[in-house]
Amino acid sequence: MTRLSTNHTIRLNNGSYPPSVDELIPANHLVRVVSRTIDEMDLTPLLRTYSKGGGASRFHPIMLFKVFVYGYMTRVYSSRMLAKAMRENVMFMWLSGGQRPDFRTLNMFRSSRLKAVMDEVFMATVKLLAAKGYVKLENYFVDGTKIESAANKYSFVWKRGIDTNERKLDEKLRAFIIEVDRVAQNENVEYGDRDLEEMGEQTTFTAEDVAELAAVLNERLSKLESQGAGEDVKKLKKDVKQVVSDFLPRKRKYEAQRAILGERNSFSKTDHDATFMRMKEDHFKNGQLKPGYNVQIGTENGFVLGYDIFPNPTDTRTLKPHLENMRYRFGKLPLRVIADAGYGSQENYAYLEKNNIDAIVKDGTFHRAGKRSWRKNPFNTEQWPYDAATDSYSCPEGRSLTYVRTVRRETDGGYAQDLRIYTSESCEGCSRRDRCTRSQGNRTIQRNEELRRLREKAHARLLSEDGKILRKRRAVEVETVFGQVKGNQAFRRFHLRGTRKVSVEWGLLMIGYNIKRTCLQV
Ligand code: SF4
Repeated sequence: MTRLSTNHTIRLNNGSYPPSVDELIPANHLVRVVSRTIDEMDLTPLLRTYSKGGGASRFHPIMLFKVFVYGYMTRVYSSRMLAKAMRENVMFMWLSGGQRPDFRTLNMFRSSRLKAVMDEVFMATVKLLAAKGYVKLENYFVDGTKIESAANKYSFVWKRGIDTNERKLDEKLRAFIIEVDRVAQNENVEYGDRDLEEMGEQTTFTAEDVAELAAVLNERLSKLESQGAGEDVKKLKKDVKQVVSDFLPRKRKYEAQRAILGERNSFSKTDHDATFMRMKEDHFKNGQLKPGYNVQIGTENGFVLGYDIFPNPTDTRTLKPHLENMRYRFGKLPLRVIADAGYGSQENYAYLEKNNIDAIVKDGTFHRAGKRSWRKNPFNTEQWPYDAATDSYSCPEGRSLTYVRTVRRETDGGYAQDLRIYTSESCEGCSRRDRCTRSQGNRTIQRNEELRRLREKAHARLLSEDGKILRKRRAVEVETVFGQVKGNQAFRRFHLRGTRKVSVEWGLLMIGYNIKRTCLQV
């Protein structure tokens, strides 16, 4: 039988306990790597934020920065929890040298000092990686993920809701103005320079229009009051009240909401920068609409070189601004960009070509084009033979589709595409018509020659030996970052609100990720 000690409390060994905090931390512990790496970084931009007056800080910004980076690496995201960790956790005590800033100090540091320079601070990490030869900005792997905002889930404002409410209000306003004008004409009242009849012909109104209406009615009210017209004054007072306390605030509210909305379809009332996006919630990829941000990152050799936070849920329109930000940060663009089909658009291909970047970027047709069923389908117009001499295509029935005109269309993002339209001279009597087209008239097809050219170029690169290797690497390069952050670190929701603050949080996560990654390079 095992003999147990009679005393279950920890015995102290004659004054040699507790040892120094430094002794408790193994030589190769992550916290030491964090501290060492941050010491190597050029954090002048962060220190500069303290040179603008405001008195001396009790706590050194580099110490606070280390605490935040280590906190975001170890799932301690809130300022209160960090403050607690600095009192109770040996690793945090070691980092802070025993100092104990309270949560307000920590919060102020993150949402004020770091917010102002996060981009530069993140760049300091990347410069350090480049100096050590870990990254060269040659192969740049891009992908995005959606992270939920800290906003209330049910705080949505939809564009179509604003449109409907505003349309109803405009109809109400128009009826109101016509009625007020009718009464005024019956009573032979003049409104001076302001013409209500003209205003009643409008179908939409701005807040300025409604404010003017209120001024006109107030003017009329003053006149009536001076004349002592009892009943009319009562009715007009009611009208003025309706304009001032109902119509005008509602109009102002809708205008303010449209200003917040910008080009988006929705926003959250409790985090104006967050947009409602469908987020994959479970393994069956069932989505749920939640307020969130589209986080775009770019990696090379497993390190995160850049990130940006976007309000739009689709990835297609994020590539150009993301790469432009990279150009601003690095002073140059990568040699190759590797991305999935979400980024394959004419606009993106054209941008990459213009900037001499090799596009290893799929589009929606890449996998389809490899399928036998697609290639063998006689009604797949992409396969129809083209005759350059007559500028015409031949259908499976051997009839010609000749060029008719070119139309210019704009994508949602405002990018102009030229489409060449070809029409069959006659589809009459065609036995295969029901399989070829649903149109009642002759068959018409569209050709976007520029997109075809760019697409073919991209497909050739994707199918090259280098292309195949890079495509395989893409899955592990970027997805690993998202897996680490969302899975292992359980970071599925931001803790702060607003793009700039959210950007600080993501920056801390990415700095932590890069530091951890350096351990694998040793
Ligand atoms: S419907 Fe017109 S274009 Fe299609 S196969 Fe028949 S003839 Fe050709």
